[in-house]
Amino acid sequence: MTRTTRTPRTPKTARDLAGDLRAIVGERHVRVAVAERATYAMDGLPTHRRLPDVVVLPGTREEVIAVIRLLAVHGIPFVPRGAGTGLSGGALADDGAVLIVLTRLSRILKVDARNRSAVVEPGVVNARLSAATRPHGLHYAPDPSSQSACTIGGNVAENAGGPHCLKYGVTANHILSLEVVLATGETVILGSPSGEPWGPDLVGLFVGSEGNFGIATRISVRLTPLPRAVRTLLADFMALRAAGEGVSAIIASGIVPAALEMMDQSCVQAVEDSVYAAGYPRDAAAVLLVEIDGGNADAVIAETELVTEILRKSGARSVRSAASEPERERLWQGRKKAFGAMGRLSRDLVVQDAVVPRSALPDVLETIAGIAARHRLVVSNVFHAGDGNLHPNISFDATDEGMRTRVEEASAEIMAACIAVGGTITGEHGVGLDKLRYMPLIFDAESLGAMLAVRRVFDPEGRVNPGKVVPVHACREWTRRTDPGRKPGVGPKPDPDGSGDQGGLGGPGGSGSGDQGGLGGPGGFGSGDQGGLGGPGGFGDPRAGARGQLVS
Ligand SMILES: Cc1cc2nc3c(=O)[nH]c(=O)nc-3n(C[C@H](O)[C@H](O)[C@H](O)COP(=O)(O)OP(=O)(O)OC[C@H]3O[C@@H](n4cnc5c(N)ncnc54)[C@H](O)[C@@H]3O)c2cc1C
Repeated sequence: MTRTTRTPRTPKTARDLAGDLRAIVGERHVRVAVAERATYAMDGLPTHRRLPDVVVLPGTREEVIAVIRLLAVHGIPFVPRGAGTGLSGGALADDGAVLIVLTRLSRILKVDARNRSAVVEPGVVNARLSAATRPHGLHYAPDPSSQSACTIGGNVAENAGGPHCLKYGVTANHILSLEVVLATGETVILGSPSGEPWGPDLVGLFVGSEGNFGIATRISVRLTPLPRAVRTLLADFMALRAAGEGVSAIIASGIVPAALEMMDQSCVQAVEDSVYAAGYPRDAAAVLLVEIDGGNADAVIAETELVTEILRKSGARSVRSAASEPERERLWQGRKKAFGAMGRLSRDLVVQDAVVPRSALPDVLETIAGIAARHRLVVSNVFHAGDGNLHPNISFDATDEGMRTRVEEASAEIMAACIAVGGTITGEHGVGLDKLRYMPLIFDAESLGAMLAVRRVFDPEGRVNPGKVVPVHACREWTRRTDPGRKPGVGPKPDPDGSGDQGGLGGPGGSGSGDQGGLGGPGGFGSGDQGGLGGPGGFGDPRAGARGQLVS
């Protein structure tokens, strides 16, 4: 399906098209003034900044299609953006590209309570969907801590997780079908209304593709019944290691809590000092928030008692259960607003994201504390402990260049430590721009090349969100061109500025195995050893396959 777009004889820049874009979306919804564009120069990660050439805010799917068709005629790249809460620099557009902001596409188009599904536009805010379906006894289960702001479109692109994804599964488990506008302006439907696979799992492929394949304009989601019984426990520990062991012990018991979250002392104190104070004990080395839910109240009580016993045996100083719904909400608010509370610690914050085997949590947390001390940085941990999904948060001052360098060094060491114990570089925040430099640490050149080949099936010209996720200069085609003698599987050095423009041999962990599944969390791209990804069309044309249906 390699298809190219004819570029007109006199090439136009994104800025030249501002008038045409205004004709499509209206005067107010095209931003070219520097001050207006600066609003969109970052996402939730303060270490990357890119000024888009033009920002356009379409209001309907038809306007999205018209905008993309116009850009296709002129061969201009574009970047989709939801609420901009992403934490990997994924929604940033370089000079020369158009940023397409989807927050005006915010309608819940249909709630089908009988079939437990809903159809939404991509700009619907996550928490709004659950609020709208609650009267039907249903909710949209994936609940990122940013759910009061982030959009379902952004969640799909990042395969977002959240505290309750331990039991209910991440975004990939809740998407039934997608309408996607490709770089040409053509529209495809991936998946089926019932969510049953009709062929290759193209929904699974798209979810977690970080805006690299096209723009999701309609999203059909699975809704989940609200649990009838819920118990929320707060356990506090005087040692971080004991809390980590408590997490492993709960999972080893066979109980799958709805949520199992950890916060260390630095995080607890930031929360308790803020308006989100939840009553966490300030002197604890760590607290665990454990939620048990289900359809049967007696079973939930029995499991809660068992978990309480496990926590006590693991060394919990106290375990208390929320006595009322307001108290439960308060406990959760502290956790979900913890990143915001950390704003008290410093003017800037890098929220890191990595995954380790649960059993490695106690050791890795100690290693991270050592890295923080060595680099003279404050690192606070708040994370989805049940999934082994770490979020070490580094507080810093971006105006201090020396400190910025230390943050970059500490981040790289944290990633290396997680990889060394069998973990990976992202659990839910994606690769975006920020983690390009780490990709060669876990994927070899062949695997990166296979990922690019899959991307080209959707976007042969590489115009959708260019420069993200796959460090092109580290992939096989590039390394062959630059260094014919290079051994397969040997990655390049990490790229210090994350731009992906530095090749070269070696680098810590440079010999990737190429057999690690998933990119940007479960449900992302398949890995090089999963077959069928060998080249353009190798996976099938999403417009022609059994499950890919061309609609316009
Ligand atoms: C305080 C805080 C807490 C967070 N907690 C969590 C958490 O618990 N779990 C978690 O997973 N993440 C979390 N995040 C990260 C972030 O909220 C998620 O990645 C979220 O899914 C991003 O949604 P967004 O609408 O802000 O997307 P954006 O940041 O705007 O975009 C993210 C990516 O999606 C692409 N994109 C956006 N819309 C579309 C579309 N319609 N079609 C195709 N591509 C699109 C963009 O190009 C970009 O690559 C947190 C962030 C913050 C600031």
